[in-house]
Formats: sequence, structure tokens, C-alpha cells
Amino acid sequence: MAKIELKNLKKYFGNVKAVDDVSLNINDGEFVVFLGPSGCGKTTTLLMLAGIYKPTSGEILFDDQLVNEVPPKDREIGMVFQSYALYPHMTLYENIAFPLLAKKMPKDIIDKKIRDVTKNLDIGKLLDRKPNQISGGQQQRVAIARALVKEPKILLFDEPLSNLDAALRAYMRAEIKKLQHDLGITSVYVTHDQVEAMTMADRIAVFNKGKLMQFDTPNNIYNEPKNVFVAKFVGTPSMNILDVEIENLHNRIFIKIEKDILFEIEDENMKNKIEKINTKKVVMGIRPEDIKISFKKENNNSFRSKVYILEPLGREIIYNIKLGNNIFRIISDEKYDLKLEETVYLTFPKIGFHLFDKESGKNLLF
Ligand code: ATP
Repeated sequence: MAKIELKNLKKYFGNVKAVDDVSLNINDGEFVVFLGPSGCGKTTTLLMLAGIYKPTSGEILFDDQLVNEVPPKDREIGMVFQSYALYPHMTLYENIAFPLLAKKMPKDIIDKKIRDVTKNLDIGKLLDRKPNQISGGQQQRVAIARALVKEPKILLFDEPLSNLDAALRAYMRAEIKKLQHDLGITSVYVTHDQVEAMTMADRIAVFNKGKLMQFDTPNNIYNEPKNVFVAKFVGTPSMNILDVEIENLHNRIFIKIEKDILFEIEDENMKNKIEKINTKKVVMGIRPEDIKISFKKENNNSFRSKVYILEPLGREIIYNIKLGNNIFRIISDEKYDLKLEETVYLTFPKIGFHLFDKESGKNLLF
């Protein structure tokens, strides 16, 4: 186990600021996921942790020791890649033994370690086979076994499940989480899949364009996104985002969605927060599960709308409903019998929405 500290970490490739001033602390035994779209700098950060890339500037510390100059082999890390990177001509046993043979460890000790590590991963009976004689999921387990057998202080995963089909991915997600929990090895896991991040992580670091957007628990990332990027990136279907205006009329506060569609803020605490915002034009975000559909007007914050299209998912339905010029996506397990173009009402939540700054994207309510 080890704690990790990144201080003002930067990696530039010529003009490309792949990682741009990232600072974060990872606790002993924590499972941290680096999440973000392609090209956001998450893999570059992971490769700096591994020692494969040297930072342009900044510091990497493992247990308070600066490791910037420590070569990969001396960092006590285990790495699991998307491609598995198994040697095709070796048996699984030989593949897993490889890093220990390289350290010139006695054969009987290697054997015991391999038996121990493969028992947990359910591949103990396959060890005589070659990589092309087992499934993708099993290959991924062998890659994990090879990383674990070195008894690393830190485990680094680079999109390890992207080559697997959806069912196996979901299964392996839970397996890796359980294994990490049982072993308690500090782990950093890179993915662009927000479901993987939400389900597996103790904390998620969301990256965009080389910058750290938010580093927080999955719950806070979902419920208290610091900015519009995090709000949009996490959650399926993603948050409804629209330009609105704050209207202050005789001590009443409204969010003007468009002409004649005024959503009144009634919650006192929320009113106080909105009163402090000193711009009028802002961006509103509402999660698809926070808008209610009804056949009758429920209150002054229910707005007449039209059914645009329905997307059934089996257990739930995504309702696409047009209110004025905006189409809202609403998810519900309620099976309303709706026809296209039918009139319904959308009721907005009292507090379950966000307001973001139009320029900086910053959440103005936190
Ligand atoms: P992906 O999920 O596609 O791997 P990522 O978030 O991991 O994306 P990085 O691989 O860290 O992104 O890349 C961040 C940026 O740095 C990108 O713009 C990428 O093109 C650039 N980059 C990465 N590696 C190099 C390199 N060796 N040389 C030049 N530019 C690079």
C-alpha cells in the first residue's frame, strides 16, 4: 500500500498540453478512477505515475518520497493494460511467472505465489494453456494476475475492460472492485466509461483538456458537479442543459426558460443562493430523473408540453418532451401510455437543478 501525491504535474508534447497543472492526493488503499473523454490527459497522467513518461514539471510522490527520477521497475507498481500484453508463445503460467523470473526469484516461491494469486482470479485450472486458448475475460485476469504476483504497492489499470463485451465488462467490473477491496492495494484506473467510474471508484478524478475538473466521491460528482463539464459527462441520459435567464420581479425569483415559460423558485434557501448570483444569463442543468411528467397541471411550475419521441429501455423509458423550443429528456420507470404529439405537463423540481456560469461553466449554487 502507498499513498500518492501529484503536485502541479504537467506534461507537454510540443504545443500540446496533455496534462496541465494537475494536483491531487490519493490515500493508502484507495481506488481512484481517472475519467474523461479521449485526449483529456488521463493516460498520460497514468504513464507518469508508472514512470514511463517523465513530467515536464511538477512532482510525483509515493509515500512522501519523490519518485520523478525513479525508473518504472523500481516503483513497485503493477500495470494492467487494455491490450492484456500477454506473450502468445508462453503458457499462462509462464506469462505470470515472467516478472518474478526476471527478478531471479527461486522457482518454488514463484510457484506458491502463482497458485495463490490465480486461486482468487479463478484461472488456476487454465495455467497450462496459451493466451489464444482462453477467452478475453480470462486473458484480462491473467494480465491482472501477472500484475499482482509482484505484490505491488500500487496497481495501475489502463482501460482494462474496453475489449470485452458488455456482459463480461459488467462482470469484470465487480470482480476487479472486489479484488481491490480485498487486497487493499492503492489503485488508479483509467477509463472513459462513466459507468465504470461511478460503480468502481472510491473517488473519481474527472479530466478535460489536460485539466482536473473535479476530484470527488461518485456521489458528489453526480449530485454536486463543480462545473457544467462534469455535470454533462456523468449520468445517462445526460443532464438537460439549457440557456436561461434569472428574473427578479418584486422579490420573487424566476428562471426564464423562454418567453412566457417562467419557473418560479419557491425554496427560501435556493432563493438566497440565486439572489447572490450577479449575472442574469446562466446555464441551467436538470437531471432526467428530476423532472416529473403529468397529464394535468400540478402547480404553477408545471408547463404544457408535447411528447416528441419515446425511447423504451425495458425497465425504464426515456421520454423526450418538447417544452417551447427545448426538448427535455426525462427518465422514469413509470410506463405512461403516451402518443407522439400528445399534450403533457412537465413539473420542475424545487431544488433538484443546477445553475452554471455561461463563461466559466462553474456551478453557481455550490
Ligand atoms: P485516450 O482515452 O484516447 O487514450 P487520454 O485521455 O488518455 O485519451 P492522453 O493519451 O493522455 O489522453 O493524451 C492527451 C493529449 O496528449 C492528446 O491530445 C494526445 O494527442 C497527446 N499525446 C499523448 N501522447 C503523446 C505523445 N507521445 N506525443 C504527442 N502527443 C501526445
